[in-house]
Amino acid sequence: MPRPRPRTRRTRRLGRPHRRRTQESPRPVTDWRHLAHCRNSDTHPELFFPDGETTTHHLAQIARAKAVCAQCPVQGPCGDWALARPSEAGIWGGLTENERRALKRRAARRRTAA
Ligand code: SF4
Repeated sequence: MPRPRPRTRRTRRLGRPHRRRTQESPRPVTDWRHLAHCRNSDTHPELFFPDGETTTHHLAQIARAKAVCAQCPVQGPCGDWALARPSEAGIWGGLTENERRALKRRAARRRTAA
């Protein structure tokens, strides 16, 4: 069994990068999800997943979820993310499933017409 190499200054330097985080250097925001209003507020996640879009209860729930999305700084990236997926359930980027489906249909029609 080989003896472990003594940890010199050089081996320590070549090891895994380790950066000490301080108050002055917070973790960099690399993903839009870190800025999501629904994630950082007291909103219950179920609000964004109504059982349907027909009853007054559903419509009220959707309106409340859309009000949260309207204040979100990453509404655009969130909506784009959901539109890029085939069938993402719930409200994303202030759009319901039906609204996203309609947007996709319109975009497909425009592509075939062009
Ligand atoms: S747009 Fe709405 S669903 Fe998307 S991250 Fe913001 S609050 Fe959440």
